[in-house]
Amino acid sequence: MSTERCKHDFLLGQCGSCKEKPERINEQVFATKTGQVFHNWVDCAFLRIGQSSADSQGLRNHPIERKHWSSVFWTLGPCEWCCAFYNIQEETPIYCEAEIDGRWVTAQKIKERFTIYGHREIQVWFESLPDPMLLPDNKVRSHYPK
Ligand SMILES: [Zn+2]
Ligand SMILES: [Zn+2]
Repeated sequence: MSTERCKHDFLLGQCGSCKEKPERINEQVFATKTGQVFHNWVDCAFLRIGQSSADSQGLRNHPIERKHWSSVFWTLGPCEWCCAFYNIQEETPIYCEAEIDGRWVTAQKIKERFTIYGHREIQVWFESLPDPMLLPDNKVRSHYPK
């Protein structure tokens, strides 16, 4: 049985305040011992970058731990990349067009990041899907309202 506790010091699943998981935060999230943020995605690019910079500083590379959202939500911040869908939910949506199976479809642009050689990776969200998708910059273009 898990001995993880929420910030209210209850065992997970036994705290009334922690029953309601915030929308767009996953039930199971990921963190390292030294990390300042938690991640929705185990394969988040920022989680990998954090790990390799810890390596280059000669710090022990802490393993990625799976955590219940309520044990980290109030003590760590949400990752700006893989929790962007949560972070921007109060903001005015920005729309774009994304190429899916050869068709350009209107989507909400969630966040973008630079990868290598000036390329960008863009998170877009289609209303029919539960989570944003990651697309390269050549699959995403500005939205021109009709
Ligand atoms: Zn609690
Ligand atoms: Zn992340």
